[in-house]
Amino acid sequence: MQPIGCAAVTRLPVPAPHEKARPLAKGSVYPAKDLCSQCGLCDSRWVAYVKTSCAFLEQRFEAMESGAHGRSRDLDNDDELYFGVHQRMLMARLRQPIEGAQWTGIVSRIGVRALESGLVDAVLCVGQSDSDRFTPVPRLARTPEEVLSARVNKPTLSPNLEVLEQLPGSGIKRLLAIGVGCQIQALRAVQATLPLEELYVLGLPCVDNVSRKGLQTFLESTVSSPATVVHYEFMQDFRVHFRHSDGRTETVPFFGLDTPKLKDVFAPSCLSCFDYTNAGADLVVGYMGATFGRQWVTVRNPRGQQLLDLVEPELETAPVTSSGDRRAAVQQGIEAYDKALKLPLWLARLIGLVVERLGPKGLEYGRFSIDSHFTRNALWVRRHHPEKVEAHIPAFARTIVSRYRLPEA
Ligand SMILES: Cc1cc2nc3c(=O)[nH]c(=O)nc-3n(C[C@H](O)[C@H](O)[C@H](O)COP(=O)(O)OP(=O)(O)OC[C@H]3O[C@@H](n4cnc5c(N)ncnc54)[C@H](O)[C@@H]3O)c2cc1C
Repeated sequence: MQPIGCAAVTRLPVPAPHEKARPLAKGSVYPAKDLCSQCGLCDSRWVAYVKTSCAFLEQRFEAMESGAHGRSRDLDNDDELYFGVHQRMLMARLRQPIEGAQWTGIVSRIGVRALESGLVDAVLCVGQSDSDRFTPVPRLARTPEEVLSARVNKPTLSPNLEVLEQLPGSGIKRLLAIGVGCQIQALRAVQATLPLEELYVLGLPCVDNVSRKGLQTFLESTVSSPATVVHYEFMQDFRVHFRHSDGRTETVPFFGLDTPKLKDVFAPSCLSCFDYTNAGADLVVGYMGATFGRQWVTVRNPRGQQLLDLVEPELETAPVTSSGDRRAAVQQGIEAYDKALKLPLWLARLIGLVVERLGPKGLEYGRFSIDSHFTRNALWVRRHHPEKVEAHIPAFARTIVSRYRLPEA
């Protein structure tokens, strides 16, 4: 069967970059300049294609969706407008969670099963450096153990695509790539030129990523003991949950974050990104469209279902649900963020409790988060890169943003 994601390969064979093409030197100014998300493409010889594949130089959502899924998203269907092309969405958790995973470990288990079943020869995933748990080290894992040791988020910009440089001569013909939106946009753009027979893409939703330095500022302004944090997540109960190395959990309400300090922490690439839900992946596994404690799974095409089939017998699943109304909270949030208001902790906790009880849940929470980030990012692009507004903000994001009143640019 012709893999959907490889449609472009048969239509238009594109030569791989010449082997003399050289990755850019580390530390040089990359083509996207301040908007670079350090996805790693420029750290490989595939830098030869950067002008047409970098998510921050040229947005190409429609072409990417058509190439990967056979069609672009239906803008008249509100679920597709928000969550992208899909054939199925569900909530799930592993009956036997993987200890130390970000949530229950569905992503790592798919990686393990993909290798064990012979579906792929390697899994592109992100380990951690020996000296720092939050410094990402992308790798091509060949064994289940290597995939498992890459479990849990490294919540920092990760140069995943630098490992493309290792593909030629490696014997890897079938690859499962795990990654966030900016990495997957560039990967899809060069897919036809890769020395692969099969590519499966398992995406993570992603927003508000940071450099390693930015992460330090975030931890120091938010948590009691930054040095002992081993895991954190912005969760559906409107709190950030931190886990410390001694097993202790600490929660901080979103509304109590130090907005004046944090406004400048997020990477400019993330402040100009509209690919929150990872539009080009075959399968996306996140949490924000699920009720608290479960993961949210979006199957975009038959390849995505093939990946999910690897673990479906091990999952407890449920249909997605949606309740509440996000719109007033989003509108209030736009204004509060713009004024960089910082609330006293008692008030933040009180608002958090009310919103948790009465606020949006399930898919409506997902829409709340998308609306909040797209409006913030549209404003950021208008203010910092007005010359890019036309070409950079995709049609689906414009429709979403137009539903709200934005402050003056
Ligand atoms: C930076 C970041 C931001 C995210 N933001 C959201 C969000 O806003 N909403 C939402 O619903 N979900 C978000 N996710 C996804 C979510 O946090 C979980 O990663 C996902 O649900 C999978 O959980 P798991 O237990 O199955 O993963 P695990 O089995 O623990 O596996 C985690 C996987 O993440 C990969 N990974 C780790 N760090 C990175 C990185 N920096 N870049 C690329 N890949 C990486 C590893 O290779 C590993 O395979 C984000 C993920 C990341 C990495």
